[in-house]
Amino acid sequence: MRIHIVTLCAAILFAGCGPASPPAGDGRLRVVATTQQLADAVTNIAGDAVVLTALLGPGIDPHTYVATEGDIQTFQDADLIIANGLLLEARMARVLEQIGRGDATRVVAVGERLDPLTLLNWEPEAGLPYDPHIWNDVRLWIEVVGVIRDTLVELDPANAAAYTANATRYITELEALHQYTLAQVERIPQDLRVLVTAHDAFNYYGRAYGFQVEAVQGISTESEASAADIQALAGVITARRVPAMFVETTISPRTIEAVQAAVRAAGREVTIGGALFADAMGAPGTPEGTYIGMMRHNIDTIVAALAGN
Ligand SMILES: [Zn+2]
Repeated sequence: MRIHIVTLCAAILFAGCGPASPPAGDGRLRVVATTQQLADAVTNIAGDAVVLTALLGPGIDPHTYVATEGDIQTFQDADLIIANGLLLEARMARVLEQIGRGDATRVVAVGERLDPLTLLNWEPEAGLPYDPHIWNDVRLWIEVVGVIRDTLVELDPANAAAYTANATRYITELEALHQYTLAQVERIPQDLRVLVTAHDAFNYYGRAYGFQVEAVQGISTESEASAADIQALAGVITARRVPAMFVETTISPRTIEAVQAAVRAAGREVTIGGALFADAMGAPGTPEGTYIGMMRHNIDTIVAALAGN
């Protein structure tokens, strides 16, 4: 009981010290990253120099995820919250805005730090000015890694040299990933570079790697596909003789299976070429649990399904 009171007094003293949050017990910066992609970038740049909490795990849909009371506490305890922004985390946007109010260094929405000219427009009339799926263009993600590096250097200058060196090494790996993806795409016949997926996560991918992108659902998974959407997509697949389409790890395969049935009814066959990681990555400890492993899985799956034998 006595220890508890002492801790409480210490906390009050810290709170009265000034604008900076009290450091973690061991002095390390406490960082929360909303998505796995962001958490992986932080790990690559900071390693054990920060205490990292990754909020959204494998299979969790960021468009629809609502912060729990525990999550809000985690946000409040953090020195730095790194979010994707651009309304990817649509149902956490208000909470993050409230926590960031009055302290712009505490909540960093990386997508909103990018040059808007590099972003794809979406549906401004629906309150979604920009497509939030920025990790699907590796060159854009390299910009994001730079934003995270600069933020960590600013908040924790004692570790600046390590953050800078680690980010440089990681960016070299990301540049190799970008070149690998471009080389793999060359194996797919030009007229078959059509990416049919469950929801619209791959527009940056299409722009960067030369795919026509067709999706059943809109940019957010909250909108439901209509029968007309399914028929329209089946028409594109039939006309372009697309051999395969893809399911996603965070979305029920129901709509993609409905498209497959509609194509079949029109007298053609389209296979399901496997599952792509669209909004979440694989399990920690597996290759797909890293950003680079996930992106390699995606292009390898796409090439296997579209390049033929
Ligand atoms: Zn999405």
